Amino acid sequence: MGNDILVVAEHLGGTLSDTTFELLGMAKKLASQTGGSTVAALIGGDDTMLSQLGAADLVVRVGGGEIADFNPEVHGAALEAVVAAKQPRIVLIGYTSMGMDLASHLAVKADLAAASFAIGIEAGDSVVVTSQLYGGKMNVTTDLGSGPCVVSVLAGSAPADDGRAHGPPASEDLAVPPTAGKIRFRRLIEPEAGDVDITAQDMLVAIGRGIGNKDDVEVAEALAEALGAAVAGSRPLIDAGWLPKTRQVGKSGLKVSPKLYLALGISGAPEHIEGMKSSSTIIAVNTDKHAPIFNFAHYGMVADLFDVCEELTEIVEEKKG
Ligand SMILES: Cc1cc2nc3c(=O)[nH]c(=O)nc-3n(C[C@H](O)[C@H](O)[C@H](O)COP(=O)(O)OP(=O)(O)OC[C@H]3O[C@@H](n4cnc5c(N)ncnc54)[C@H](O)[C@@H]3O)c2cc1C
Repeated sequence: MGNDILVVAEHLGGTLSDTTFELLGMAKKLASQTGGSTVAALIGGDDTMLSQLGAADLVVRVGGGEIADFNPEVHGAALEAVVAAKQPRIVLIGYTSMGMDLASHLAVKADLAAASFAIGIEAGDSVVVTSQLYGGKMNVTTDLGSGPCVVSVLAGSAPADDGRAHGPPASEDLAVPPTAGKIRFRRLIEPEAGDVDITAQDMLVAIGRGIGNKDDVEVAEALAEALGAAVAGSRPLIDAGWLPKTRQVGKSGLKVSPKLYLALGISGAPEHIEGMKSSSTIIAVNTDKHAPIFNFAHYGMVADLFDVCEELTEIVEEKKG
């Protein structure tokens, strides 16, 4: 085992994910603690992606055009090969749909200690991981020993800008390891944009379970109309049928980055944060001052969302004359 930090670069539809850059920023800090280097594994991917990974000291490429789409079997084997070749101390993977597949596969196959839901990592004599559990209601610290280990990290745990550096990094190629070919990629099904495309809005009034019941959704709709915004929601509202699926923000919904994201009665679970954390301005209203959404909001208000909605709608309507 060396002292290097390996980041798994994640991409979909030809674009590297924000998570990749968040992990690279985190890896650089960890590498300064371990005295090692930052290495990125680019499985599939192209030269444009490679040129965006300048924050890594070295990029190990597996496959290029040979691996066009995500396949847990192929990516798992490729990642095993990178880890066997580079012997990193810590492997960082995003806690995403792809990362969930890869981190557990790697932990078992390469016999690595593992922690998930990470929001912070310190690498001294031991690797100590802080994980956020129960939708952000509890933080747990795990000592993974000296390593080697694999840690899957929640989206939004570090600034993506810290891991963005253009310019071609040093790179080397590894051959794609053979696999049994039991899993085949068929097609990517994108969520439909529907009545209103919430990904294209400048302002979103987003509501969560704090809204209480279906009839009260109209309170948020009135505010949205006054503001010229659209209504979006957290998953429980969509599961309950209070809003259509096309309005869901988050891991299993749509990713949005409006100029204003007004989060009303949303607790800030990691799966929700993943979908809205890159909004330019986030304002959260919640009756619970400990709600995790306040860790991500630029402005927060401990208040009843109904009071805020009513007053804000009135003020906006008045201003419009
Ligand atoms: C694999 C997976 C995928 C998921 N995908 C998604 C996803 O895409 N999107 C998503 O949102 N979730 C997703 N989830 C669910 C996620 O874990 C949370 O359960 C969900 O985000 C919680 O929604 P919420 O914040 O509306 O509800 P809660 O967590 O119940 O929070 C409600 C909040 O409202 C506050 N509140 C109550 N009354 C008021 C009031 N009158 N005024 C102001 N505040 C009030 C409470 O203090 C609380 O903080 C996923 C979960 C899993 C396991």
